[in-house]
Amino acid sequence: MVCRNVYETLYSAINFLDNMIIINGKQTAADLRLKLKNEVDNLKFKFSKIPGLTVILVGEDAPSKIYVKNKEKSAKEIGLKSEIIKYPNTIDEKIVLNKIHELNKDDSVSGILVQLPLPKHINTKKIIDAINPDKDVDGFHPKNVGNLSSGHESPVPCTPQGCLILIKSIEPNLSGKKAVVLGRSNLNGKPMTQLLLNENCTVTIAHSKTKNLKEECLKADILVVAVGIPKLVKGDWVKKDSIVIDVGINKTEKGIIGDVDFAQASKFAKAITPVPGGVGPMTIACLLKNTIDSFKRSIV
Ligand code: NAP
Repeated sequence: MVCRNVYETLYSAINFLDNMIIINGKQTAADLRLKLKNEVDNLKFKFSKIPGLTVILVGEDAPSKIYVKNKEKSAKEIGLKSEIIKYPNTIDEKIVLNKIHELNKDDSVSGILVQLPLPKHINTKKIIDAINPDKDVDGFHPKNVGNLSSGHESPVPCTPQGCLILIKSIEPNLSGKKAVVLGRSNLNGKPMTQLLLNENCTVTIAHSKTKNLKEECLKADILVVAVGIPKLVKGDWVKKDSIVIDVGINKTEKGIIGDVDFAQASKFAKAITPVPGGVGPMTIACLLKNTIDSFKRSIV
């Protein structure tokens, strides 16, 4: 199926439970990947070139290895050129920087991603700053962070971008809505806040020093939680008929669970993402989108 508009097709990716909607991120991500695959086919036909994604992996961090493998698999499935450059944990920072400079100049590379976290002896800021902002498919380069906050077009960090797609699948017009973002990381909370502000929401950003967290959450028409504490958000923190987006991925003895108590919160929310199967699958799909967008910017 060819998707005309990502938000339109999302309605097919929503499951209803009584009157409450479980937002199916897995299906939404699959729909988006299909749309992107068609786009790659068209670009290949038109320009005889395909977008390329290069991921740099330093060290042996087990979750990072899994994430990188999944990124490569998804990239190949939609027809992108995909490459992983692996370095040992002890690699000299200069070698990584030189490789980034080389990739910056390589026309076959549309997107560069350095998998985080990096070993302690490597300066993460220096590495991110070295990536050409036009190829920064994570959207972490200071120039892109600035562009996002001033409302200019730029690569948007993948997880918040995925969250916004899911939110808009339920509520296309967010103007005037009260949004609360729980967590203020550069990766998730801050760019999420900015995206919601750009949609004309009234946004509160809460964190570990926020007083009366429950009261803040209870004001939210849209509640995005990116904290990393299993089931921090209880049912009675959730405003009736709100949209709840759970970014958390917490490994526990019972499996992977989110930052929101899904069973309790779903009694109050209008729509909620499950964990797993909510935000997670959207992150990689949005990375692929950023890579294709970067390619398109390079050929105009
Ligand atoms: P992070 O960098 O550790 O930031 C956590 C944020 O939560 C911080 O701003 C912190 O406040 C705040 N916080 C911590 N304890 C709190 C509390 N008791 N009450 C209120 N706020 C509190 O985490 P992150 O990288 O944003 O990741 C958050 C979660 O998302 C993790 O579970 C991570 O695994 C998951 N994640 C999921 C995806 C995905 O694709 N679904 C992608 C990335 C991350 P302070 O700033 O005051 O310390």
